[in-house]
Amino acid sequence: MFCKCCGRLIKNPAPDQMYCTVECGNRYRKEHGEEVQKAWPSITFNCGHCGRLVVTEEGTKDRRTRFCSASCEKKYWRHPPHEQEGYYQNITRAQAV
Ligand SMILES: [Zn+2]
Ligand SMILES: [Zn+2]
Repeated sequence: MFCKCCGRLIKNPAPDQMYCTVECGNRYRKEHGEEVQKAWPSITFNCGHCGRLVVTEEGTKDRRTRFCSASCEKKYWRHPPHEQEGYYQNITRAQAV
């Protein structure tokens, strides 16, 4: 099996492997007008804590999917809605019946 881009021999290639490295694959696709593999797609969501609209940047290591910031995430997990006062009391009451 030889790299489709630089022709280097690939030892023990994966069944669908066509390039010796990811860089080679991206270079080949670029040169041939094919789409370069994206590291991570851009997504849009509302922060689970403050509700702010968040748009992550495509191709970066931005892997936020739920909160706009680490501090929002911390605040959320410290006070999740189901742990707010009254919830457990209601459950206890319901079970007692
Ligand atoms: Zn190569
Ligand atoms: Zn937030």
